[in-house]
Amino acid sequence: MKIKNQIIFVLIACVIIISLSGCATVPLKQAFPTYSLNGVTYYPLIPLCETKGINWQYDTFTKIAVLNKGGHRINLKVGDDLVLVDQRAILLNHPVDLYEGAPVVPAKFKEQVIDTLFREEKISPKKAIVFSISRKIKKVVVDAGHGGNDPGAIGRTGLREKDVNLDIAKRLAALLKSEGVNVVMTRSVDKFIPLGTRVQITNSSKADLFMSIHSNANHAKSVNGFEVYYVASSLNDAKRALFAARNASLNLDDASFASNSVNLKAMLWDMIYTYDRAESIQLAKNICKSVGSNMDVRVIGVKDARYAVLRGSRIPAVLIETGFVSNYNEERMLKNGFYRQKIAESIMEGISDYAQELILAEVAQNEAHRSF
Ligand SMILES: [Zn+2]
Repeated sequence: MKIKNQIIFVLIACVIIISLSGCATVPLKQAFPTYSLNGVTYYPLIPLCETKGINWQYDTFTKIAVLNKGGHRINLKVGDDLVLVDQRAILLNHPVDLYEGAPVVPAKFKEQVIDTLFREEKISPKKAIVFSISRKIKKVVVDAGHGGNDPGAIGRTGLREKDVNLDIAKRLAALLKSEGVNVVMTRSVDKFIPLGTRVQITNSSKADLFMSIHSNANHAKSVNGFEVYYVASSLNDAKRALFAARNASLNLDDASFASNSVNLKAMLWDMIYTYDRAESIQLAKNICKSVGSNMDVRVIGVKDARYAVLRGSRIPAVLIETGFVSNYNEERMLKNGFYRQKIAESIMEGISDYAQELILAEVAQNEAHRSF
């Protein structure tokens, strides 16, 4: 009788322990919150991807997300209940939605598509690479625009572009160095450096990125904002030759022509040409995104510099216009060291995000390779 009671007690204890441990594992697995929209359970898409080590891209304008991992590819669109899984159309019971501006997916999509296609990652690659920007970006050329007898744009209260550019460039260089990235500056003092020399420095540096720092000016005082230029689509060889011939007569050492912002950019892009335009665009987008989320500034966005593309360096290159010294408010802000530091930090964050995307793509590529 006593033994029977003991057995029953042990059995009950086992049931309690099993059910308790069962309960305890549920919140542990739930690394991110779920949302209930119209009675349907949704998961936030981006944290979900990061937990599973899925390489993701999300375009806030088209509201299209593309997920990649291990050779699999999923396309989805906010507002649509049709998703493409490896080019195969799958109809969900509920559409992909937005919650506080971020894409969310129905729980069924997570269970039936994500969980079956992608295994759980023990360490999220995104987390593992946060501290290793230098894994992909070992050296950066930081180019402070203008200098010496070429002041660049001049603000209404006398702020000179060359001084703003150099200060932000120095701050960015310090941030890059603190992340273990080697930095080559085309100038670190108030000195005129001909464009030809800037290009020579870039080409001989064997750097991974070229960043040119400028500030803008416009006849209309009201124009303000932050913008990033990348190299436009390549011209054909005939146009290149024509362009080279037309510009051969320009004296690169002549400061007076260099102070013309359009000419300067044209000449710069003429020579700092990148074969991989996609990488420059991605870098430009990452910088705009971090500036937009960190600063109270109008982000004009990413633009292509169409006017001149010739052979030159083969690295991703962007030209950043940090603000308009011709705008009263932006000139006032650009005079402020804290503001310039914030700009440098935001550019740094953009470079960091860009590096992480490169590493994620590399991880995904390696996994695709392994699965064959
Ligand atoms: Zn400039």
